[in-house]
Amino acid sequence: MEIDIKALRIEGIYQQNDAGQLMMRVKLAGGLLSVPQAAALARLGQQYGSGAFHLTTRGSLEFHTLEADQIGPIQRSMAAVGLFSRGACGGAVRGISCSSSFGRGFNHSQVLARQLLFHFSGNPHFEGLPKKFKIAVEADYTGSRHLIQDLAFVYVGLEEGRALYDVWTGGGLGREPQAAILYQQRVAESELLPLTESILRIYRDNVQPPKRLKSLLRSRGEAEFRRMLAAELSKAAPVQFRNGFDKALLPLPAENAELKLLVPVFAGELPAERLGIIAAAAAAVGLDYLVVTTNQDLALLPADPATRQRLLDALQQAGITGLDQPPQQLRVCPGNHGCCMGLAATRDLATQLQQAFGTRLNARSLAISGCANSCAQPQLAELGIVTGKSVRDEDGHRTPRFNLYRRSGEGLGERIAEQLTQEELQAALEPLL
Ligand code: SF4
Repeated sequence: MEIDIKALRIEGIYQQNDAGQLMMRVKLAGGLLSVPQAAALARLGQQYGSGAFHLTTRGSLEFHTLEADQIGPIQRSMAAVGLFSRGACGGAVRGISCSSSFGRGFNHSQVLARQLLFHFSGNPHFEGLPKKFKIAVEADYTGSRHLIQDLAFVYVGLEEGRALYDVWTGGGLGREPQAAILYQQRVAESELLPLTESILRIYRDNVQPPKRLKSLLRSRGEAEFRRMLAAELSKAAPVQFRNGFDKALLPLPAENAELKLLVPVFAGELPAERLGIIAAAAAAVGLDYLVVTTNQDLALLPADPATRQRLLDALQQAGITGLDQPPQQLRVCPGNHGCCMGLAATRDLATQLQQAFGTRLNARSLAISGCANSCAQPQLAELGIVTGKSVRDEDGHRTPRFNLYRRSGEGLGERIAEQLTQEELQAALEPLL
């Protein structure tokens, strides 16, 4: 089947390999997935592609190794349950990431994430951007993900019933990692949409493809960026969200946050059948939603202890293990298992490190990326591994070389070793774990 792969990007589809197989990313707001949506995806995942989903570090979910003629049937079935992939790749506002700390602002941040997702997905004024535009809405400062977004809103409290957010902008990873700047503190929620649209217009009109917003801050400087934004904002028409239900879909009373049940997903690789089992267990105890966390696990939030126990029993009876244990803080991108940019078999490396270090690995957060694009967010983990290159050895085999990052302060992690073989990498990790 003849396809225009470049044109498909805006539909959330990338070519994955030389055989022409495709990845399709499902766009979620804050990782929230209704139980019927999860069940529908599980059915599709068993019918099409690799039989497993990759859970991303932005709380989205990817089909892998699809054939071109499978895209239409999948998109039709997704649309039947309100799911879509428009803008999940290409020059668009991507899926809105949302804090998985389930912190004090979660009930506000999940609503804002959904409103942003529906406002910008398929919005012709904000497609065709120079490159991706990543927005996160964080319930608190846990995890520091505000540092790596084009635009991040961090909930900081209420004032006269209005949610307030700190606004960060201009961050990003990739080959030139750059921490976001704090643009403004305690901004009222009602001001965030005009602000977001103004930043997007500045980005669209002043940055050459394929650069990110951070390049504008770097080339013009913060003072000039602020001047440009103030000028743009002065022209902006008042605009408010007009997209439906403005209450939390997954209410999380503060006193019940500890009822959260994490279902671990090793390296973000979730068999479709397993997703179906989890969705069925959730449905059996009356849950409406589950969450794809930004640590590539699934979270379920029962409303009371009795429901939690019934859910735990149902999952265990269905063979789901690893529940109710301290979560392993491991993030892994697909690497060359499923990404044409990948220089290393990242999941294999994760498995080998787990075999080598066992539970010592659980004491530290660890992120492994298959190339410098850093999709696993290695500069936000205590220990980060970035595959820097792959070299051809004497017998013609390619072997990866790794850069090691360490994060100890509040900013991005810093490179502490480079061009390591896997053996050297393990030796370098030994004293750090
Ligand atoms: S970090 Fe590189 S290899 Fe990993 S998913 Fe991103 S682009 Fe692909």
